[in-house]
Amino acid sequence: MTRDDCIALDARDPLRQHRAVFTLPQGVIYLDGNSLGALPRATSAHVRDVIEHQWGEGLIRSWNSAAWIDLARRVGAKIARLIGALPDEVVCADSTSVNLFKVLATALRLQSSRPQVSVLERRFIVTEKTNFPTDLYVAEGLIDLLGHKHELKRVDFDEIHAAIDDRTAVVMLTHVNFRTGAMHDMHAITRLAHDAGALAVWDLSHSAGAVPVALNDADADFAIGCGYKYLNGGPGAPAFVFAATRHLRALTGDAYAQPLAGWLGHRAPFDFDHRYQPASSIDRFAVGTPSIVALSALEVGVDTVLAAGPDALRSKSIALTDLFVRLVEQRCGDQGLHLASPRSSAHRGSQICFTHVDAYAVMQALIQRGVIGDFRAPDLLRFGFAPLYVSYVDIWDAVDTLHQVLAHAEWRPAASQVRARVT
Ligand SMILES: *Cc1c(COP(=O)(O)O)cnc(C)c1O
Repeated sequence: MTRDDCIALDARDPLRQHRAVFTLPQGVIYLDGNSLGALPRATSAHVRDVIEHQWGEGLIRSWNSAAWIDLARRVGAKIARLIGALPDEVVCADSTSVNLFKVLATALRLQSSRPQVSVLERRFIVTEKTNFPTDLYVAEGLIDLLGHKHELKRVDFDEIHAAIDDRTAVVMLTHVNFRTGAMHDMHAITRLAHDAGALAVWDLSHSAGAVPVALNDADADFAIGCGYKYLNGGPGAPAFVFAATRHLRALTGDAYAQPLAGWLGHRAPFDFDHRYQPASSIDRFAVGTPSIVALSALEVGVDTVLAAGPDALRSKSIALTDLFVRLVEQRCGDQGLHLASPRSSAHRGSQICFTHVDAYAVMQALIQRGVIGDFRAPDLLRFGFAPLYVSYVDIWDAVDTLHQVLAHAEWRPAASQVRARVT
């Protein structure tokens, strides 16, 4: 494999035209689209139009005339196509953390309303020890709020199967691990959960827009995910929430099954009813007024992913990650790096991690040379591969830079050891 081979791969890449959809700064190889997706060229003009025309001129009339009131559902329906859901099972709202609170509370409520099981018998929320911290915090906070009737059972990645039993209320997992990229088998785990009488809640933050997801095919119960990673929605973009149709139906009549009862979750918000009556649709997972400006940017980002199609994205993602692992091990194999991601592409998402004793400083040196990945405590160099805009020659050049940084110990200067607040 040479640099010219990578150039040849780019020339044959069916997604090569999609890179031009994004504005990427000169001299930067961006391997952090798993943390903050790149800026689509169309976003600025669209957001400017929303601000200057829809807001500036339309003013409040735009809730109807520009269909602002439908935007959270419209973008949700587009995301549904990426995650194997029906268009009316997904809505955009709030942040991933807040949406997790909503669906986890709802799942526990569904479990406790089953007459034959006592909450104390079926008390465990099974999750992964190394789940994204916010997911763990939200679960613990909810358990506290509910009076410690439940317990969070944190196990290792490969202990999930064994941890699910008839005392499990909910299995709450992030499909693709935020550090290592290790991917759970959503179908198998959901089936196991159901066989044990539990519900399955999936966090798709590192999956949506990166790996094919088939929520309904897997029979998933609830899911949530992030808008600013592979969906390219911009910093702090609204998140999304999915509830299976069967649960939306089953919840009818239980007003506070989704406990963040807000006026936009009401069946008729503009009745200004003094009594809360939730929508029977996914709207009940909306809470308050969404940010129309942010949702408009998210819509453009989601469109960039839809334009490519999940299979083409997955094939290229596998090719990029395989190439990266191979080149790093060939060229930097004796430089103190160890693969922390699954070696088999079937078992990982679109990111690769290597451990290094001085990972933070090495990453700072890479960033100074225009190769942007990130550091994750305690010792991980993390690289994300957004197949829409990362090229094969990017991989070659990034590994070349990594090799030089490690060979010349450029990361040693003390300046790059001082950690910034955001890593
Ligand atoms: C990125 C990410 C989040 C982000 O949560 P926010 O509330 O949107 O900040 C949550 N969970 C996982 C697994 C993530 O990867």
